[in-house]
Amino acid sequence: MSRIYNFSAGPSTLPESVLLQAREDMLEWRDSGMSVMEMSHRGKHFAIIAEALENDLRELLAIPANYKVLFLQGGASAQFSFIPQNLLAGKTKACYLKTGAWSEKAVSDAKNYCDVVITASSEAEKYTHIPVESDWLIDTSAAYLHYTSNETIHGVEFTGVPDSKGLPLVSDMSSNILSRPVDVSEYGLIYAGTQKNMGPSGVTIVIVRDDLIGRAPKTTPPVFNYAEQAKNQSMLNTPATYNWYLVGLVLQWLKEQGGVAAIEQRNIAKAAKLYQAIDKSALYKNPVSVPYRSRMNVPFILADESLDKAFLAAAEAQGLYELKGHRSVGGMRASIYNAMPEAGVDALLAFMAEFERTH
Ligand SMILES: *Cc1c(COP(=O)(O)O)cnc(C)c1O
Repeated sequence: MSRIYNFSAGPSTLPESVLLQAREDMLEWRDSGMSVMEMSHRGKHFAIIAEALENDLRELLAIPANYKVLFLQGGASAQFSFIPQNLLAGKTKACYLKTGAWSEKAVSDAKNYCDVVITASSEAEKYTHIPVESDWLIDTSAAYLHYTSNETIHGVEFTGVPDSKGLPLVSDMSSNILSRPVDVSEYGLIYAGTQKNMGPSGVTIVIVRDDLIGRAPKTTPPVFNYAEQAKNQSMLNTPATYNWYLVGLVLQWLKEQGGVAAIEQRNIAKAAKLYQAIDKSALYKNPVSVPYRSRMNVPFILADESLDKAFLAAAEAQGLYELKGHRSVGGMRASIYNAMPEAGVDALLAFMAEFERTH
C-alpha cells in the first residue's frame, strides 16, 4: 500500500488514524455486534455516536446553548435554497457579498426566492480580493447578510467577521470551518458541507440561532425546514448514519490535535511556507491580494501555461495528486486543509523548487 498526498479541494484527504479506526470498527462497532452502517438510527448504539458528534462539535467551536446544530443532507448547495426559504420570514430582500464562484452560486439560487442586494462584488477584479467594508451597501430592511468565508475555487478568505449592520449574519464556511476559531455568537447561521475539512461528503452542518428557527412558510418541505429538523434531532428522515460516524471520528482526531486554536497555528505555518515559495519564484504566481489569501486553498499559475501538463504529471510521479486548478480558473490549486500534514506541504515545496530548476 502507498498512500499519496492528496491536495484535492473536496472530497479531501482524511487523517490516517481516522481511516484506521474506521477499518477497525468496520465489522463490529464496540460490542454492538454490527457495523455502524447496519445500525438503526433510532437504536441505543447510534444514539451514542450522534450525541458524541454534536457534543464534540459544540466543544470545538464553543457553540452557545441558544444555537441548534443540525446534520442535514443535500450539501452546502441545498442550503443556498434552504436559507432563503427558512430565513426570509416574509421579507423580500437579502444581502449577499459576491467574492467568488461559491457566493455567485448562492446568489443565483437565492434569486428564486427574493430580491438579492449585492452588498459588494469583486467580480470585476476576477475575485482576487475582498471589497473594503466602507464601500458596502447594506439594506437594513433585508432578512440577512450572506457571505462565503472562504472561496474554495478562487482562494480568497475573510479574516474577520463582516459588519452586517445588525442583520443576521449567514456564512458558508464549507472550506474553512474548524480551521480557525470563530465566535459563533456573531452569527445567525453557519453552514458547511463536511467533505472539505470535517470528513467525507454526505453531511451538511447547520448551526443556527434559536430565534431564526420556525419562520419558514408552511409550504416548505419538512426535511428542508430547520424547525422540523431541530425538533427531530436531524432525524426527520433517515440520516447519513455512517457519515455522521466518520465526521465524529474526525472531530475526535481534531480534539487530540489540541482543538481549533492549535490546528490554526499549523494551518498558518503550512500556508505561509507555500505562499512564500510562490512569491519568491519566477515560475509560480498567486493572483490574490495578500491580506485575503486563503489558508486552505492556494491557487497558483505557471508563468508558461504550456508547462501545466508536465507539472501535473511530474507531481504525480512524486506522489502529489489533485493539484489541477478548478476548470473555471485554470492553473493549479493546492488544498491544504487540517488533515494535510506539514510533510505533505514540504514534499510539494521540494517538488515545485525542483520543477522550477529543471524548466
Ligand atoms: C464545496 C463547496 C460548496 C458546495 O458543497 P456541496 O456539498 O457539494 O454542495 C459550497 N460552498 C463552498 C464554499 C464550497 O467549498
